[in-house]
Amino acid sequence: MSSLLIDNIGELSLCDDEFTVLTDAAVLAEDGRIAWVGPASQAPVADERVDAEGAAVVPGFVDTHSHLVFTGDRSAEFAARMAGRPYTAGGIATTMERVRAADDAELSANVSHLVRQMRSQGTTTVEIKSGYGLTVADEARALRIASEFTDETTYLGGHIVPPGEDADEYTALVAGPMLEACAPHAKWADVFCERGAFDVDQSRTILAAAADVGLGLRVHGNQLGHGPGVGLAVELGAASVDHCTYLSSEDVDALAGGDTVATLLPGVEFSTRSPYPDAARLLEAGVTVALASDCNPGSCFSSSMPLMIALAVREMGMTVAQALWSATAGGARALRRDDVGRVAVGCRADLVVLDAPSHVHLAYRPGVPLVRRVIGGSGLE
Ligand SMILES: [Zn+2]
Repeated sequence: MSSLLIDNIGELSLCDDEFTVLTDAAVLAEDGRIAWVGPASQAPVADERVDAEGAAVVPGFVDTHSHLVFTGDRSAEFAARMAGRPYTAGGIATTMERVRAADDAELSANVSHLVRQMRSQGTTTVEIKSGYGLTVADEARALRIASEFTDETTYLGGHIVPPGEDADEYTALVAGPMLEACAPHAKWADVFCERGAFDVDQSRTILAAAADVGLGLRVHGNQLGHGPGVGLAVELGAASVDHCTYLSSEDVDALAGGDTVATLLPGVEFSTRSPYPDAARLLEAGVTVALASDCNPGSCFSSSMPLMIALAVREMGMTVAQALWSATAGGARALRRDDVGRVAVGCRADLVVLDAPSHVHLAYRPGVPLVRRVIGGSGLE
């Protein structure tokens, strides 16, 4: 057994439900799990010691929404959008063509690069989706590659209907042979339930088939306008519905009454110059909120969870404590896990030492590299 003591922590955010913050604290990890948390003055002896030098320590970020299996650059599309062209779901087809033409090594190298970039910014758990292959072979390949980096892999054959294909025929493929080929490499299934992507019946067909083969459910919903995505996610008991930018009061009530997490992706609104979701409204209603990056080449090519925290505070009405909780413990809820996203005995010892005296700096100093050291997050190195 190997033990590691993280000592001399000026401020330790536990990310429990009370947002507890300890001062002058220490954490003992044994074999990658937290074995003890308490005052630095009572810290036990360990094989190795990390001196936090009075800095703040937070749990590693849990980024539950990313599309990393791609290749190709879409910066020109971003520049055009900033020059006034509106965002639509159709840009996904551009990346689809590049991904189909790429070899495995190119895709794997891109995922590896982005995962290392995430970890260097404090992310220690990441979910990765397929969704740019959109053939049986290319979707299965994307998930095989994603599963080299994380256990949190999501089958997103239902991302868009490939150009020129019939929507109902493609839906049957996604819910049939494509699902069969992908399920062995996936923990979750997701569908883009939105105008321009899949309607509610097509989305239900795909998600019901995925649930039948044992996959957990996630939904992209209510990003571009009001729609049925949130209602469907709650109805089917999905772990998370992601985006939630346009919500009716019925949607908010459904989320508050169900056990589906609302995952907000403020980098998308930032990068598409769109109105932000109203996080304060969700929190007031008692909805569990997570924050994620949605790192993807089209609508948000940021891998930075600290940026998402800053945007959530500045633009979505969250307190800093709420935003940090949503980026850690909230993400764990959205993955239905209780072993990450918190500092508690038994959890994975995934910790971030900040180059700052307080977690508040994550929002107070946007764009500044505040991650001094990342502990844990095995597999993301
Ligand atoms: Zn997405």
